[in-house]
Amino acid sequence: MSTLEIKDLHVSVTTEDGPKEILKGVTLTIGDGETHAIMGPNGSGKSTLAYSVAGHPKYQVTGGSVLLDGVDVLEMSVDERARAGLFLAMQYPVEVPGVSVTNFLRTAKTAIDGEAPKLRTWVKDVNKSLADLDLDPSFAQRSVNEGFSGGEKKRHEIAQLELLDPKIAILDETDSGLDIDALKVVSEGVNRYRAREGKGVLLITHYTRILRYIQPDRVHVFVAGRVAESGGPELADELEANGYERFLTATV
Ligand code: ADP
Ligand code: MG
Ligand code: MG
Repeated sequence: MSTLEIKDLHVSVTTEDGPKEILKGVTLTIGDGETHAIMGPNGSGKSTLAYSVAGHPKYQVTGGSVLLDGVDVLEMSVDERARAGLFLAMQYPVEVPGVSVTNFLRTAKTAIDGEAPKLRTWVKDVNKSLADLDLDPSFAQRSVNEGFSGGEKKRHEIAQLELLDPKIAILDETDSGLDIDALKVVSEGVNRYRAREGKGVLLITHYTRILRYIQPDRVHVFVAGRVAESGGPELADELEANGYERFLTATV
């Protein structure tokens, strides 16, 4: 089972002028095995939501709750959240010079599972994951994100997703900067993960393009720090046709 319940979440950041509220009461529930898309204009707070759920220290939760299978996530450290089954693929992944992809993945897997993966199956799993994502086996020896192309960064994130096997994956702008071939490969990886029993996905995106490959169960329009409207996949079609204007004018 994996259910993520976000209830009336309020989040602030500290600015030179004092605290600034970015999330103003976000409520949404990802049910067992569901994929939800969050779509919204730049600056609406989508990344803030992802970072807040993952536990980034820059974001102060001032109200509301986040429950993973009924357990309070906000009380957990970042590591505990990862061990509990939350995965965040970031819009701007960091470089980890000197740490190879293979060591990075194995260290992360060991930290999350609480024991090292069995070497023989692990090497096989890593090789399969890289091959599925059209990455050369030599990719495993490269330093994490160092000199990676945009497409390689995103493929590496999906390799993490498939190998770490979290309960809930939060993917922030996984489609940004991808050409059409890379978008397909990345989407297929997400779809392989989704096909596993009871996995939840929160797919954050500015553009509807990726939703042609990863079909969401629910779509939420995010405006000015809250969910302005929720609907089925047809809501994405409406955004594709008309943009965000209707939602922006509704908030002023
Ligand atoms: P999105 O991902 O939807 O583009 P973000 O969550 O990145 O939006 O940002 C939402 C708003 O919060 C923006 O106006 C942004 O400038 C502001 N913001 C985010 N982080 C900080 C910060 N550390 N300090 C000040 N403002 C911030
Ligand atoms: Mg409120
Ligand atoms: Mg963002």
